[in-house]
Parts: sequence; structure tokens; C-alpha cells
Amino acid sequence: MKIVELVTKDLRFPTSQDRSGSDAMNPDPDYSAAYVLIKTQEGLYGHGFTFTIGRGNELCVAAIEALAPKVLGRTLEEIVQDFSGFWRKLTRDSQLRWLGPEKGVIHLATAAIINGLWDLWAKVEGKPLWKLLVDLSPEALIKTIDFRYIQDVLSPEEALELLKSRWPGRAEREQEVLKNGIPAYTTSVGWLGYSDEKIRSLCRKALQEGWEAFKLKVGASLDDDRKRCRIVREEIGHRTLMLDANQVWEVEEAIEWVQALAEFQPLWIEEPTNPDDILGHARIAQALAPIKVAAGEQIHNRIMFKQFFQAQALGYCQIDAARLGGVNEVLAVLLIAAKFGVPVCPHAGGVGLCEYVQHLSIFDFIALGGPLEQRRVEYVDHLHEHFVNPVQISHGRYLAPSAPGYSSEIKADSIERFTFPYGSFWNKEARSWKD
Ligand SMILES: [Mg+2]
Repeated sequence: MKIVELVTKDLRFPTSQDRSGSDAMNPDPDYSAAYVLIKTQEGLYGHGFTFTIGRGNELCVAAIEALAPKVLGRTLEEIVQDFSGFWRKLTRDSQLRWLGPEKGVIHLATAAIINGLWDLWAKVEGKPLWKLLVDLSPEALIKTIDFRYIQDVLSPEEALELLKSRWPGRAEREQEVLKNGIPAYTTSVGWLGYSDEKIRSLCRKALQEGWEAFKLKVGASLDDDRKRCRIVREEIGHRTLMLDANQVWEVEEAIEWVQALAEFQPLWIEEPTNPDDILGHARIAQALAPIKVAAGEQIHNRIMFKQFFQAQALGYCQIDAARLGGVNEVLAVLLIAAKFGVPVCPHAGGVGLCEYVQHLSIFDFIALGGPLEQRRVEYVDHLHEHFVNPVQISHGRYLAPSAPGYSSEIKADSIERFTFPYGSFWNKEARSWKD
């Protein structure tokens, strides 16, 4: 199955219009996807994307195009037969590597291509991605992972043993997922740009829908945060509350600020400070226990995650399917997290991230076991209507997807409307609200 064409699209959705997605660091995101269609000679397509929040999305598109020659002309069979070798070739181009390595725009582009290839593979196999992963033998799964730079904490042999040791109970866990789905939490109630009344009414609506866990954005004003936490606690009672600061604080400031909110009993504080500050996160985690520290949406590769775990800096691991270098690198992080006993609660929202990460969490639970209720997948209620196979949510849980692929295909008419800057939305409607 020869790959003959890669078509890229710069897709931007005008979420800044109603401040959906607004937080202390990002007041006006336009959720965007640098999207790639990977076409085979037979006319099949793999669909992949990375996620950005607007301006600069074109840089990711250009980086995908720079990597495209490494994919063109290869067959899907030769890629997946030695997927770790292919992954290494894609990330180790001696000139392109200078742009990262394995971070920033070039790694976001890697994610788009690699995820598109997994989508294609799953479609060819006629399985949803999570099922493709679950059905791979431990030996085959290990062969997709590049263990370079993580062997001091996890060698391929150790990873194999880990997968085999968690083998018992897989069939029961798969049945459990198919029956009940996987737990989620909602971030839709507490964007920073929302009024008190809107937060209160969204909490009530979410409770009616059966949600049990709620995340609130904090970090702009302590008085305001106290007021908003009080509103949410009043509405949700004893249910789970998480807080997310989106990197706005200094290390000591984070400790003081969260201590001032401790009375509201949050489960975790997410991204309290700069995502590269491993020791800062460790210091915050130590000072705030039993409140946990969560991070990962901007932890950009397996080597960084390795060090966060080594430093005991994370209570919850929030992998991002479009920030790590696609499924292969996510698998590496899931295995290291399992070794350190840190639950994985993926970052989602944006555009299409919910569609992606549901597969990864389902695989994580079935293959690696442990308590299901500790794994909560983020859920945000926008932009799902643009996907051919959108997520299905019921009573605060993701239902296991059944369509073949990685749920990453965007509808043709959405691509036409939201391609930037010449799609029909940006050409006409956009002018009327931006001018
Ligand atoms: Mg976050």
C-alpha cells in the first residue's frame, strides 16, 4: 500500500468569539489543526493533525510539508513492520532535527504525520485504534517504540515484562470498557472568560448530564478564584474538583496561591508553572501534598516525562496526543507512567484531542490495568460536530469508539469552510466579526 500524496490543511475555528477555551495564559484562542491527509495508491486515506491555538498554525503546516518526503513513496507495510525505525528516521533527520530536537513545531508536525499513519493502519485493519493496539502482541507493541534516551528507566526487555505481567484480566477489562466506557471530567464549566452566572448554570447543566468531576481555570486573581471555587463547590457538592493555572505562576507563588484555595479541596493543581521546570514542579508537589500536581499538555517528549517521574514531580500524567510525537511516543510514556505508578489522565479539548485520546486511555486501561476510576479523560464540549466519527459521551463517560481508525477524520465541508485564510468562513463571516 504505497503512499503517494500528503495533502496539508491549515484549519482554524473561531473559538475566540465567545472566549471558549480562555484561561489565565491564553485569553483568546482560535482552536486550530494543522491537518494532513495521507493518500495511498489505492485511494485510501489516513487523517492526522496536530493542535495549535491559532496564529502560527501555518508553521506546523510548513513543518509537515518539510517532513513529507520521508513518508512519500514508502508502503504502509514497510512503515508498520519497523515502526520504531521509521519513527526514528522521521525525528532524526540530521538537518531538520536542529529545529527541535523532538520539541516545538517540528515535533508537533511529527505528531500529525505519525497519527495519520496510525489512522491509516487502523482503517486498513478495520479496527478502531484502541483495538488495533490491544490486539498487538507485547512483542509487536514494543517494536513500535523508540527507547532511545529512556533506557535508564525502561529498557525494551523491562517494557515487555511489564506488559506481560499486566496481561491477566485483559479480556475482563475490555468487556468493562465496552459496557461502561471510561470515566471523564468536564472542563466546559469553568473557562476564565465566563461570568459567575454562566459558571453556575453550566455546573447545573453538567450535573443533570451526570458529570462527577469538574475542572476550573484559575490564576488571574486570587479573590476571583476564591469566588469561582466557592460557586463551583456550592453547585457540585462533594464531587471532584480540579484546578488549572496554565503555567502562570512562579514556583513559590504557586504554592501560596494554591494553599489559599486548599479549603475547596481540589484533587489537583494543573500546570502551576513553566512546563520545563521539572524541579519546580517537584517542589510544588512536595509543598502542596495531599493536593497533587498534574501536567503534560506541554511536556513535549518521553525524555521530559521520564525526568518528571524520576523527580516525583507529577501526581497525574496528562499526555497530549498531538504534542508527543504521535502514538509511538505516547506508548513509551504510558509504559513509564505504569512503571512509576502514576495515573494517566490525558489532556483533551482543543479540536479533536478528545477524539484522539479516548483510544489511548482505553488501551492504557486494558493493557496496563490498575484502577479505572483514577484515569479520567478530559472532556470539552466543542467542535466535535466537525468530525466524521465524533466522541460519544454518556453520563460523564466516553463510550468506546467502534469505527475503524483514530477518529481523526474531519468532514469535507468543515475543511472547506474553516481552511485559513481562504475557506468560506474566513473569507466572509470572519470579516464581519473581526472588523
Ligand atoms: Mg490544562
